[in-house]
Amino acid sequence: MSAHCDPTAVRGCVYLVGAGPGDPELLTLRAYRLMRSADVALYDHLVSKGVLDLLPPSTRRIYVGKERERHTMRQEAINDLLVGLARKGNRVLRLKGGDPFIFGRGGEEIDTLAAQGIAFEVVPGITAALGVASYAGIPLTHRDCAQACLFVTGHLKDGSMDLDWPALVRPRQTVVVYMGLLGLPKLCAGLIAHGLSADTPAAVVQQGTTREQRIVTGTLNTLASLVADAMLTPPTLIIVGEVVRLRERLDWFRPGEVAPLALPIEVPTGAEST
Ligand code: SAH
Repeated sequence: MSAHCDPTAVRGCVYLVGAGPGDPELLTLRAYRLMRSADVALYDHLVSKGVLDLLPPSTRRIYVGKERERHTMRQEAINDLLVGLARKGNRVLRLKGGDPFIFGRGGEEIDTLAAQGIAFEVVPGITAALGVASYAGIPLTHRDCAQACLFVTGHLKDGSMDLDWPALVRPRQTVVVYMGLLGLPKLCAGLIAHGLSADTPAAVVQQGTTREQRIVTGTLNTLASLVADAMLTPPTLIIVGEVVRLRERLDWFRPGEVAPLALPIEVPTGAEST
């Protein structure tokens, strides 16, 4: 059986859709079309209000949480809910922050759907690293200083960071750390201990691409205390590497000047339109 959603089929279907990092203008056309035609939308805390506002008022919304230590709904319960709603014939929109396949457990969710024979489709989104870097004026690669870019998670397990340190400290690369705010002091100390210069530039970006975007830049030596002083709160992304210096020249985004989205957006709706 094809897992692709057939819009003419009577049975339901799940659309696993990347909602991007915050700014609704960064949604894909596919995401927007599906948002306008779904029967029910499941979303978690990373999906911005600006994005949710694009759902028609009649769409049923279910918040399934997922903040650190505050899982409103367990992953298994979310998986079961998706299956149940689709079996009832609904077109189910599973909205996830950023891209569903980057640190989003999207793979686990569609694994259950595949096992249960539910049709699904995956729509990529702009992952936080890409959106945040653009709006922070930090190119993730640059011919002069970074030929590679690593995305890692800095989630603490039992208070420690399970990272491949030798891979993280290779020269001429940028490291982007998701979920790293709590572990920031350990991250900076670890990178220095494994060979990066304490003067390596680094930045923490809070709520990138939104009106609430805040950025703190420093070095591996200074960043943790600067961020503590600034009292940044999640979601935040950490960017480490020489590319952070480029921000001094390339910074362009003015969060305070973001204009409200002008509706309606004239994109034909209906999943069958592609
Ligand atoms: N699937 C998502 C990532 C989920 S993990 C994606 O592709 O972006 C959640 C982490 O993403 C957060 O802890 C934070 O590190 C990062 N993140 C998501 N949105 C962000 C934003 N607007 N600004 C900064 N970091 C963000």
